[in-house]
Amino acid sequence: MSAYYWIGERLWLDAVNSEFMSDGQRTDGWRDPAALQEWLHETVKRHEEAESLRDFSLGNDGEVLLQEAKKLRAALRRACETAHREPTSQTVAPEAVEAVNAALKHRGVALQVERGEGGWQEREVGSGENSDALWLLARSAAHSWTHGELVRLKPCSNPNCILWFLDTSKNGTRRWCSMDACGNRHKVAAHHQRRKQSQGVGS
Ligand SMILES: [Zn+2]
Repeated sequence: MSAYYWIGERLWLDAVNSEFMSDGQRTDGWRDPAALQEWLHETVKRHEEAESLRDFSLGNDGEVLLQEAKKLRAALRRACETAHREPTSQTVAPEAVEAVNAALKHRGVALQVERGEGGWQEREVGSGENSDALWLLARSAAHSWTHGELVRLKPCSNPNCILWFLDTSKNGTRRWCSMDACGNRHKVAAHHQRRKQSQGVGS
């Protein structure tokens, strides 16, 4: 079991989802530098593009990275909110674009070529700098935005949930962060509502 949500379908959305509701409280999964490092290591297992973070370790300035990562995350959440307001226009708040571009400037991840078992392959290697992590999150967002994915960006339909995801379902019908967390709860509530109505109690 992971302590985090991995339901966004994209690295940058899973970063946004490191803030979630727990027992009715808005909770920050990146509570300290160590937690952020743990989250970053978990991204390696969840997102192929984060491979270069495999050996990532926070330097002495972990607190600085934490603050920068939180700032970027806030900008990405803002991007979700603005894009969702008018999905077809694919509008993103200017400050979010600025934050992503700022993170992309500090490129520390480099491409290398190597001979693997299956032949030649490209591999991304991090510089070991803290900015590698921010760069990867920003690139994930940039990739989504430039590939027309903003039209499929959705918040979970549970009004008490703050998670976001890219709807990759064939018919664009995904509504919930997950059936377990929110979908079933909704089904149960709707069922009780119907029962109440059919029994003529409550209104
Ligand atoms: Zn949800």
